[in-house]
Amino acid sequence: MAREKDGARGGGEGEVRERVGVLLAAGDPAAGDPLDFLRAQFDAGLAWVHFPVGLGGLGAPRALQAVVDAELAAVGAPDNDPRRIGIGLGMAAPTILRYGTDEQKRRFLRPLWTGEEVWCQLFSEPGAGSDLAGLRTRAVREGTGGDAGDWIVDGQKVWTSSAHNARWAILIARTDPDLPKHQGITYFVCDMTDPGVEVRPLRQITGEAEFNEVFLTGVRIPDAHRLGAVGDGWRVAQATLMNERVAIGGRPLPREGGMIGPAAAVWRARPELRTPELHDRLLGLWVESEVARLSAERVRQQLAVGAPGPEGSGLKLAFAGLNQRISGLEVELLGEEGLRYGDWTMVRPQSVDFYGRDAGYRYLRAKGNSIEGGTSEILRNIIAERVLALPAEPRTDKDVAWKDLPR
Ligand SMILES: Cc1cc2nc3c(=O)[nH]c(=O)nc-3n(C[C@H](O)[C@H](O)[C@H](O)COP(=O)(O)OP(=O)(O)OC[C@H]3O[C@@H](n4cnc5c(N)ncnc54)[C@H](O)[C@@H]3O)c2cc1C
Repeated sequence: MAREKDGARGGGEGEVRERVGVLLAAGDPAAGDPLDFLRAQFDAGLAWVHFPVGLGGLGAPRALQAVVDAELAAVGAPDNDPRRIGIGLGMAAPTILRYGTDEQKRRFLRPLWTGEEVWCQLFSEPGAGSDLAGLRTRAVREGTGGDAGDWIVDGQKVWTSSAHNARWAILIARTDPDLPKHQGITYFVCDMTDPGVEVRPLRQITGEAEFNEVFLTGVRIPDAHRLGAVGDGWRVAQATLMNERVAIGGRPLPREGGMIGPAAAVWRARPELRTPELHDRLLGLWVESEVARLSAERVRQQLAVGAPGPEGSGLKLAFAGLNQRISGLEVELLGEEGLRYGDWTMVRPQSVDFYGRDAGYRYLRAKGNSIEGGTSEILRNIIAERVLALPAEPRTDKDVAWKDLPR
């Protein structure tokens, strides 16, 4: 197994098990305050073992996290509810680790991992989704030279998952409209409690409002909350997007975890619903799910911290297609029952759940899987260009100043 290159020290399975033992010896993890336990887990380097020492990790191979998680789950230790803090864990953290200052890493990573602070992602805009580099939210710095002060941000973001729960956001904004669109962007950490941030719910196909539109009016961001150099935001954002695809499409799952689990369970429990045609399809999807799960495991083991390549796009593309086909099959299998939909109440959920509730929910929620984190069409473009080395799409706007682009 490849050693993680960013890990400052490394650590073998023996050390990891020993540290888990010390952590557990400090008290019954199921009895005390969950937050105290999670903080102690972070400080012991057992939060994400592949992160550097001092930042919740041991610089150990990523695969050893499974050893930690299994030992802690066996004694009923609390977890940090990854469905609630997925954007922080999967996107903000690796970006901060790669591009953040020491101060930013110390300030943000611990409460992000323990779940004390939820993060959201202020990237997409009404006119900038697949063409994210076309974004128009502006960040203008007060003062100049030695008197330069805070950044003032104005604009609108959309489809912002979990913004209603978030304390912080990763944000990209245009800082120089005179440059071509990819070059005039800067990356910030935005305080969602700033008075200029307004979050409004957007109801989605499931009836819930998991995401929001976010209006930014005169939002003040200190320069200390800039991530990466001024004008380098597109490169920093690439790290977030590449990690996002692994986070969505390559999350660790047990066998029959994910969408195939409920479909296989219905198949076993309800023999009266079976037909030979559905049997063949279910079996094919079961095998494809297992291949996707094991491929994701392999990709995760090969990843350097914070720097996945285009392979994450392949995982996410497969994940979206499988989820849609499997949830469709589950609804077909259940017939009329599958069309019943339990609850259409508009709620603003505390977490993002792809598999919850019932077959109808799974079917509807899976529609978004081929849009969120990059559409399947865009991911195919990435695979075509960066993996298969096929000719790139013509891009006539890449050398034109953003302010001169036709809109
Ligand atoms: C459930 C969900 C959660 C989301 N959460 C967040 C979030 O937290 N933060 C955030 O910033 N964004 C979020 N998004 C937004 C998401 O990233 C965008 O919706 C996505 O990037 C597509 O952008 P768009 O909606 O503007 O569609 P468009 O970019 O307008 O695309 C419309 C259609 O055209 C196709 N298309 C566009 N360009 C090309 C091309 N070059 N080649 C081929 N086909 C093309 C697309 O594939 C798509 O089918 C979320 C979306 C969903 C559905």
